Amino acid sequence: MHLSELSLRHFRNLRNQELELPREGVALIGDNAQGKSNFLEAIYYLETLRSFRGARDAQMVAFGEDVFRVVGTTEGEDDEPRGAQVAAAFQKKGKRKKVSVDGAEADRLTDALGHFSAVIFSPADVDLVSGGPSERRRFLDILLSLNEPGYVGALSDYKKSLVRRNAALKAGQPWSLVSVWDQGLVRAGADIMSARRSWVEARAGAFDDYYARVSGGRRARMTYRPQVPLEDASDVDAVREAFGEALEAARDREVRRGVTLVGPHRDDLRLQLCDEGDGLDLRDYGSGGQRRTAALALRLVEAMTIRERRSRRPMILLDDVFAELDGGRSERILELMEGEDTGQVVLTAPKDADVRIRRDALPRWRIQAGAITT
Ligand code: ATP
Ligand code: MG
Repeated sequence: MHLSELSLRHFRNLRNQELELPREGVALIGDNAQGKSNFLEAIYYLETLRSFRGARDAQMVAFGEDVFRVVGTTEGEDDEPRGAQVAAAFQKKGKRKKVSVDGAEADRLTDALGHFSAVIFSPADVDLVSGGPSERRRFLDILLSLNEPGYVGALSDYKKSLVRRNAALKAGQPWSLVSVWDQGLVRAGADIMSARRSWVEARAGAFDDYYARVSGGRRARMTYRPQVPLEDASDVDAVREAFGEALEAARDREVRRGVTLVGPHRDDLRLQLCDEGDGLDLRDYGSGGQRRTAALALRLVEAMTIRERRSRRPMILLDDVFAELDGGRSERILELMEGEDTGQVVLTAPKDADVRIRRDALPRWRIQAGAITT
């Protein structure tokens, strides 16, 4: 899949413009604060309908305006030749988000997901490794929501049950009024844990492999760390049972603390080094470069998941990612991207010299004060 046309209206500092993107991609060069990350943010919005930087929708409306609008036209490839037109708009006044696919407005936002595939690599990805477990849960949730049927629904059911159960616990209500939420919590929670566990188990080898290839032979490990002891994650009934038992066992502590203590909302995705000091958490012991490498490996595994689950090559968006890596690692990443079945690439960099991907074959665009010249 690739993006052939992009139309921007009042998105951050970007000039209103219509752009035709080359099939192989483009390198966007510009000084700091000219709009490079904003450009990638606009493109990525078409995938998740939110900011990759965690910004609120209202923040992305250009100063002094009320509505932003991003329209992307995609073209498919051999086995999926049909493309789509995805249009997303947000209005500040009234906080309204509207999405349409091929001109038909989606009733629910989730219906509009999945027509566009992209993976974004950004310097902030290091938070995936350095940050707390919630960062990694968010990574898993976004990835699985887009790639596993049923995951979004389980996630929203789980959140509903959790919020109500926590409210009952906090208010000190009798156990019968707390445990009415257990059935819903356990059912949705088991689906979430099974999906997370299956994904991690299936992709742990690829994570290690990417890490080794970028780091020049070093090894790293990714493991799923649920709160609930899981024997066999492929058996959803067994997971439900284990979750139910763990809740039962936590009952006294939950009453004391007034909050639900076990469940996928407490999961972690553990990332560890395997060489010197085997088993050291990257979060606590990794160097800056090691953490960045691990974050990159996670994104590469994300791209691989999309390729396999959706049978299409996602767009690869690289936001100035080589700035902080040593030459060897940068070179190996570039080699890796050329070797993998990489689709369209949009990369940003402040200097021409940073752009070496595809042996310099990417067309170069410039950006200044939000205006892109092709
Ligand atoms: P760097 O190389 O430093 O990462 P960049 O080119 O990626 O820079 P962006 O993050 O895209 O820069 O931001 C460019 C500018 O957009 C900033 O100066 C910021 O003030 C401006 N900006 C952010 N939000 C809005 C908005 N809603 N309306 C107008 N301008 C905005
Ligand atoms: Mg930037």
